[in-house]
Formats: sequence, C-alpha cells, structure tokens
Amino acid sequence: MVDLDKCELGGTHLKSSDFEKCKVLTTEWTPNLGYAWDNGVAIGRYLAELKEGKIIARICHKCRRILLPPRMFCELCFRPTDEWTYVEDTGVVNTFSIAYVNWDASRRGPKEPPLIPAVIEIDGATKSMGIMHMLGEVAPADVKIGMKVRAVWKKPEDRTGAITDILYFKPLRAASPKKRAAGKKR
Ligand SMILES: [Zn+2]
Repeated sequence: MVDLDKCELGGTHLKSSDFEKCKVLTTEWTPNLGYAWDNGVAIGRYLAELKEGKIIARICHKCRRILLPPRMFCELCFRPTDEWTYVEDTGVVNTFSIAYVNWDASRRGPKEPPLIPAVIEIDGATKSMGIMHMLGEVAPADVKIGMKVRAVWKKPEDRTGAITDILYFKPLRAASPKKRAAGKKR
C-alpha cells in the first residue's frame, strides 16, 4: 500500500488525514450525474420505432446498402443516405461471448447464468450489418454462429424508446435434422 504522506509524485499532494476527514470525496458522496443528449435524426427515429415494436434502417441508393443502426450519412459513399425502410426483428448470430461478469465488471452470483452478449445480423439489412444485444432462452453451450434468432420485445406499455425495448433475442427453433430425416423416409 502506498504511504500517502511520503508520496513523491507530482501534482497536489494528499495526506491520509485528508481521506479520514473526508476532505477528499470517495464513497461518501452520491453525485447526481443526470445528463441528456440529442440522439440526432437517425438514432432518434430508430429509438422511436423500437417503442412501436419495429426496427428501422436507412438505405443508401449509391452503394445499395441498408444501414442498421440507421445513419443519415453513408460512410462509404460520403453522401447523405436516401430513405427509411423497416427491417425484420429476426436475424443471425454473427458473433457472441459468454460473460461471467456484469456490464459494470461486478461478478455474477454463483447461481446466476452467464450473460450472452451477441452481434446479430438483422434480416433485411445488408449482410454483416448487425446490432449488439443479448441472447436468451438458450444454454451457452447451444449458441452457434449462424444461429437464427428472433427478438423478444417488452410489452408495448413498458417500452421507453430504448434498445432495451427488446429484452433479448431467442433462437428460432427448427425441426432437428434427425427428425427431418426421419420425416423424409415416411
Ligand atoms: Zn453508400
């Protein structure tokens, strides 16, 4: 442990007594750090549409890409994008992680299942356009890249116009290959 009274670093020197007398704020203070920012045209509309249970993207007519999340400017063509279009609330897992810590780096409880954050390529958007979200209703061992998933939405009255209006994405269950094969023989 650093002896603060003998510390020879530059800057404003602090003494141990400063901490003891709470002259230096540590955990004694709960700051009100409320803040606001402008979402802008593209993300503003995107969030408003999430509240309605829809996912919206922007089309660039020059490169013909469908951009998701939407943006008003195409970073490839260096020109404004042209129009809005709705995309599906289904997609494919592009990549994923199995997390044993929470978003704030705190450890999850021993009985809490790991979180499965994933990048999901949304159907209707240009391939490899994806959004980051969580997977649910699936065991970590069963998650595969390329797995088809569908959004699970909050109830309409609970939505706030945030990405969390989608609770998570769950697998779209298809008949297992074994069952399909068995079905063909009949
Ligand atoms: Zn473009």
